[in-house]
Amino acid sequence: MSYAPVTRLTVDLDALAHNHALLRKEARGAEVAPAVKADAYGLGAGPVATRLWAEGARAFFVARLHEGEALRAALGARDAVVYVLDGVPSGAAPRLAAAGLTPVLNSLPQIDEWLAFCAGGPRLPAALHVDTGMNRLGLRIEETEALVASRRLDEARIELVMSHLACATDPLSAMNGRQVQAFKAVERLFPDARASLANSGGVFLGEDFLFDMVRPGICLYGGGPFGRPDARLRAVARLEAQILQVRAVPPGEAVGYGGLHRAQTGMRIATLAAGYADGVLRAASPGARCWFAGARRPLLGRMSMDLMAIDVTGCDEARPGEMVELLGPEVPLDEISTAAGTAAYETLVRLSPRAERIYVGAAG
Ligand SMILES: *Cc1c(COP(=O)(O)O)cnc(C)c1O
Repeated sequence: MSYAPVTRLTVDLDALAHNHALLRKEARGAEVAPAVKADAYGLGAGPVATRLWAEGARAFFVARLHEGEALRAALGARDAVVYVLDGVPSGAAPRLAAAGLTPVLNSLPQIDEWLAFCAGGPRLPAALHVDTGMNRLGLRIEETEALVASRRLDEARIELVMSHLACATDPLSAMNGRQVQAFKAVERLFPDARASLANSGGVFLGEDFLFDMVRPGICLYGGGPFGRPDARLRAVARLEAQILQVRAVPPGEAVGYGGLHRAQTGMRIATLAAGYADGVLRAASPGARCWFAGARRPLLGRMSMDLMAIDVTGCDEARPGEMVELLGPEVPLDEISTAAGTAAYETLVRLSPRAERIYVGAAG
């Protein structure tokens, strides 16, 4: 038998395309511009954006300048618009321009920096971030009104005006409606620019939230828009680990560090080749379940760096070499994230390069 990796992360590009198609349908004609920051939430911005380009995506969002440079290189001749949410940190304008990146200007000093850089040369395109209630990045509405009145932006080429929803994972939050109303007033200030408000959650809040462009991230990668599994979306990341050993634990004996789990009756336990160094959150055990041989099996005791224990009592199929799913179609991203006390976003970005990574589905 040849050696197979003991821990494997499969990224399913066809599932990604399926989720993208659902978002396109929900976006009803608004452009779907995928958020591929943080290496496409840990799944690989190059392969993810390349496939999404083949599915029709023509604009992408990253957070950092160097993410934009890496994405530009990965896209090669594909002439996508790459928006950088950090905008123009001091001194960054030449690098942004050299890589053909579009900054999302988010403060008056950044606007000054970009205008100064463009003065005397071509007017390079930029986006403008206006804060409508999150108080994170972006110009305040009063600042924006004053800026427009000052005509200072007449020298700029603002192609997109955007804002970000603070409470989109909660469709009942009154904040959503307040932000939409505030953003409509902002949109009117920029009749020549396109407008974008919605992240994944926003796409599912109704037509009012769609404007000209939506910027989904987590739903593309299989996380539900409202922090819980959504059956319309497919799992994109699948993490599996081999069973290294199966052992019988007599009643009264304990399992793992700290002896946290004590067997009440005789148990069979499988030790898996995955731990928090592979990116499974340590807080997921005990509490989370994995999937093996057609059933959910609880994680037992305290997870180790390289190993974890699961309960396979009564399961004859559990043998060394068999693969167990820790995240994927049968173990929803949102479910294991909730078990670990976190959100799908963090689960994905923590997946570590130690787990051997394979891409399945058409590359693009
Ligand atoms: C990360 C991010 C998104 C994507 O958010 P999801 O909730 O993953 O869909 C969209 N817009 C901005 C400004 C972001 O920072």
